[in-house]
Amino acid sequence: MEMQLLFSLQDLYGGSIRDRLAIAHILHPQLVLALETNEAFVPMLAQAVIFQKELAEIMAVLDLGSMCAACGGRSGGGCCSSFMAGENDVVQLLLNLLAGVRVAALREDDECCFLGITGCMLLFKPMFCLNYNCRQIIQGAAPAGMERLEQVIGRLLQQQYALEQLLLDVLRQTGRLAKRFCC
Ligand code: SF4
Ligand code: SF4
Repeated sequence: MEMQLLFSLQDLYGGSIRDRLAIAHILHPQLVLALETNEAFVPMLAQAVIFQKELAEIMAVLDLGSMCAACGGRSGGGCCSSFMAGENDVVQLLLNLLAGVRVAALREDDECCFLGITGCMLLFKPMFCLNYNCRQIIQGAAPAGMERLEQVIGRLLQQQYALEQLLLDVLRQTGRLAKRFCC
């Protein structure tokens, strides 16, 4: 019999990154069936994947991967720190799992635990990571390229936000997330 736990918003957005990852892995198998037949969720997730692919394309055009790899390889370089890992919440990690990413903590040093040898393992990243364009990127990319990058990031963030709200509703409706109480 499936063990069903009741979580709070503090569980989803607070706690350590290890705890949030563990909760995402508990919820994932419990929600897969319900969400596969959810008429709103399926096309919304597919659209988010399309936006993410557009982002990967524009990042490749701007050669951001090589820029970040070179930066990350320098002593004290890179911005994917263990502190930044804390920007990941349960719902966004769950979204990655539902999109087929085998989310796991890859390391235990000062870098973000989701940073692998080929970069960030996540398809859907936290807002802070998506919005962060350092001086090297801004100076290295043509203004037209930056404008396109920001447009694509904006669309992806909106889609991730809409999916997050839908997932929170599903979690509440299925008794996995405590309902909000007013005084
Ligand atoms: S975003 Fe900027 S600081 Fe971060 S790894 Fe890339 S080049 Fe370096
Ligand atoms: S981009 Fe990915 S690897 Fe880098 S800090 Fe954000 S979640 Fe971690």
